[in-house]
Amino acid sequence: MTEATPAPNREEHQFQAEIQQVLHILIHSLYTHREIFLRELISNASDALSRLQFEMLTNKDVRDPDLELEITLELDSEQRILRISDTGIGLTHDEMIANLGTVAQSGAKAFLQRMQEGNTSSSDIIGQFGVGFYSVFMVADEVRVTSLSYQPDAQAWRWVSQGEASYTIEPAERAQRGTTIEVVLKEDASEFTEQWKIEQIIRQHSNYVAFPIYMGEGDERRMLNQRTAIWRKQPREVSEEEYNDFYRQMTLEFEPPLSSVHISTDAPVDLHAILFLPAKREQGFMRQIPDPGLRLYSRKVLIQERNEDLLPKHLRFVQGVVDSEDLPLNVSRETVQSSPVLRQIAKTVTSKITKEIEKLAEEDSAKFAEFWEQFGPYFKEGLVTDPGTRSEVVPLLRFNSTHGDELVKLSEYVERMPEDQSEIYYVLADSLATARRSPHLDYFTERGIEVLLLHEPIDSFLISSLRDYEGKQLRNVDDASLADDDADVHGEGALSAAAFGQLADRVKDILGAERISDVKASSRLRSNPVRLVAPADAAGHDMDRLRRMLGQDYAVPVRIMELNPRHPIVKNLAHLLDEPAQADLLRTSVEQLYGAALLSEGLHPSPSDLIGGMHAMIEAATRSES
Ligand code: ADP
Repeated sequence: MTEATPAPNREEHQFQAEIQQVLHILIHSLYTHREIFLRELISNASDALSRLQFEMLTNKDVRDPDLELEITLELDSEQRILRISDTGIGLTHDEMIANLGTVAQSGAKAFLQRMQEGNTSSSDIIGQFGVGFYSVFMVADEVRVTSLSYQPDAQAWRWVSQGEASYTIEPAERAQRGTTIEVVLKEDASEFTEQWKIEQIIRQHSNYVAFPIYMGEGDERRMLNQRTAIWRKQPREVSEEEYNDFYRQMTLEFEPPLSSVHISTDAPVDLHAILFLPAKREQGFMRQIPDPGLRLYSRKVLIQERNEDLLPKHLRFVQGVVDSEDLPLNVSRETVQSSPVLRQIAKTVTSKITKEIEKLAEEDSAKFAEFWEQFGPYFKEGLVTDPGTRSEVVPLLRFNSTHGDELVKLSEYVERMPEDQSEIYYVLADSLATARRSPHLDYFTERGIEVLLLHEPIDSFLISSLRDYEGKQLRNVDDASLADDDADVHGEGALSAAAFGQLADRVKDILGAERISDVKASSRLRSNPVRLVAPADAAGHDMDRLRRMLGQDYAVPVRIMELNPRHPIVKNLAHLLDEPAQADLLRTSVEQLYGAALLSEGLHPSPSDLIGGMHAMIEAATRSES
């Protein structure tokens, strides 16, 4: 513990408010996976070494240029202290304040939000997700960071905190470049000074760290990690378990990847790469959306942490390492357009990972369905924003359909089409459940015609980019021109044309031209009483749903109302026309029918408005005659 009397040069600082709250939770809760703090500290040390190594490629003016790049662990069980030292880039006074006192990302906020939502115990969250440097306060009474920056004129500083609200910074003594984190362990965390325990944690979480992690002194000094660049091995030398371990240690993810691709070739460029398809889109609260980009190495030196240039946008969720002797060291300033080597590497990695995805789609449809659920929107977005991806993306597209629960591809749909069907039908809705009960499906269900059920927000855009497939137009089933002109809509069991005409006039009266441009007898409805169809001039109406979701200035679009002249509700309403005493009930019923139809279209601006009408109807239905 630090002494109570303030030292002359000691400054006291407050943590940013969000950090204070995170720390409070970390300090006052019990955890099942506390050991991850070590993984986080070692990963920070390794980053600091990578950055130094990179700096040295171009800058000769670095402090202690001959110092070995390494991480050293020291255990002091008597004092209950664990020390993690690195010979990396170090921290200046200002960097300590900027990096160990504030967080730039919204990570802390997201964490707090999850905690406040309740029913998540913090140990679950901590177990699943990394919380960076601050996770050390799960095990520490006090943390001391002593650091000397690589910059030749820098001086050493010491950062000390017991967590909670504040930390201090003061000048320090340190002979060589780098950082030492001294963790004064809580009484119940003494296991982290036990040698076997530390070795086990390193093997489990930090085995592939690229720099040596040493423990012990003199003759007893040993390297704890395997430290291999497994992407430089031959694929047949690497087991699936090793790929999975490597993935977990690289991404700090707990779940294994869905699949991996190992590339090892020397022509036309030297290239060693391992690419992973993650299992999940979200990686938890601190890394909500995995940062895009591949790690680039040249001769095992990390020259860029995240390169977003090598893969097309729709593959930006792919994680991995790319190592090539031919990579330009100033790669961050080069683009795929300007560098033939990068272009060649981009081509190879893109085609290999695309083949892997195609293989998955072909060989394991269940696994591919899981993948598609997570990453389908990326491909759809790719097609929308870059039509050049069409030939790659279209064969991968999968949709729910009225034919069963399995996802279907467009080629399957077309194969199943009856001979006289010339278009591909789809329905758009807010959710899969709403799509399945869409009244537009009545006619198609009756005839066994397959309809694709599109329910993701991006689908509206997708449709407008896709337009057709193998010469077959895609057609929304809510299109008013899809009608059967020769159907006998007023035949036996249906309202007569005259009775329907009267009802239609009244409905138009009630709803008004600003909501309904016309009321028609439907030739397509079967089990449903009503549907809203798009007038022929409603160009781009596939986007209406999206406008509602985006909110601002949303006006409910004008539609044509189709009523089913055979449906009991519609027939009952026609009878009510003759009973002036029931005018209110008629009005409420029409409003409710319209409201429910909007809801099923995903166009209702405020579904709770329907509740009042629902109550009025229940009251009318339960009123006793006496
Ligand atoms: P992250 O590593 O995700 O950026 P952390 O909370 O783990 O977040 O670390 C915060 C920052 O503190 C790092 O980004 C880095 O700038 C700095 N830092 C942490 N440990 C070290 C270290 N050993 N050497 C140099 N800088 C470090």
